[in-house]
Amino acid sequence: MTTITAPHAHPSPAQPAPSLTRAMMPTAAEIARGRRRLHRKAGYISVLLAGSYGALVFAPVGFWLRALFGLVLAVACVSLATGVMHDGNHGAFSTNARVSRIAGWSSDLLGASSYLWRFKHNKLHHGNTNVVGYDTDIDQMPFARLAPQQPWKPWHRYQHVYMWFLYGFLTLQWFLLGDLRTLRSGKVGDHALPVRPRRRDVALISFGKLLHLTWALLIPMLFHPWWGVLAFYLSISWLVGFLLANIFQLAHCVDRAEFFTPDAPRRGADFELHQLRTTVDIRCKVPVVRDALHWMMGGLDHQVEHHLAPKLPHTTHRLAGPRLEAVCREAGVTYRVHPSITSAVRSHARWLRAMGRRPIDPPGGITP
Ligand SMILES: [Zn+2]
Repeated sequence: MTTITAPHAHPSPAQPAPSLTRAMMPTAAEIARGRRRLHRKAGYISVLLAGSYGALVFAPVGFWLRALFGLVLAVACVSLATGVMHDGNHGAFSTNARVSRIAGWSSDLLGASSYLWRFKHNKLHHGNTNVVGYDTDIDQMPFARLAPQQPWKPWHRYQHVYMWFLYGFLTLQWFLLGDLRTLRSGKVGDHALPVRPRRRDVALISFGKLLHLTWALLIPMLFHPWWGVLAFYLSISWLVGFLLANIFQLAHCVDRAEFFTPDAPRRGADFELHQLRTTVDIRCKVPVVRDALHWMMGGLDHQVEHHLAPKLPHTTHRLAGPRLEAVCREAGVTYRVHPSITSAVRSHARWLRAMGRRPIDPPGGITP
């Protein structure tokens, strides 16, 4: 982590935070160039997806080549989620809201409803980052305790071992359980959807699930034995879930970030500092690895910049990063960075282990 000094108190509205976001913002021309890069990237991802899928389903390839195409398909799915779906659902993909919305629909293609994602991710997660009871990304109960304010259970002692395996079921959980549960209850966690989904929304969500089922399982089953397709689907889905979960967890669920109770000030003048206290960037010194990770992560190695300006296309994050770091240093504000990808993974592992230890004075009580 950088050693820029940290004020450990949110500013009061009478002492507004300096506008760090304004200082890091790319110019209009830089954003326009970034969007053109983003659209080209979406094209490359589509080619990777269609090519690997076509080879897997229609070409008579052997085991090792199949495994290689499977790996390419998994990376293409992750890149689609981080680099097209995520930007699209934030309205960052295009200046045309309808085009962004269409890009956001790629979430449905991957099995998760874009309609529910926008509430869960844009409102609950971005508006309440690392706030227990609001940010559903840090709510993995009863499987894991991810924040000090959450109750401890005896099996959490081993969460630093088993959670890596459970992360792989993230996308399958979205596809089969999470969205349907939200539709039935009208809630994400304890939070009611702002408007009850209309019949049209429910129809679109169901259509998305059916579309995913069709391309990922039914069409391949026309050409290959069902058990082989199912086994392959579960393997790729696990890998995609594992990579996606890690991309999000390494930015927030680490011992370099802070966690808050719902009374934490986080709006208005407090917004920037709250985001800077709960979000961590990742740096990588090896150029090829850095570029590959940045590409696959949809620029989310710069999560801090994304959280300050979610409507920026991710292809401009690399311009905003050094500017934000400089202005934070000037303002005496902590800008949190994992110095390498392995350091980020270690930070998450340390946090899982720390939260798995039986607390001396548990806030949520202990179930022996
Ligand atoms: Zn986001």
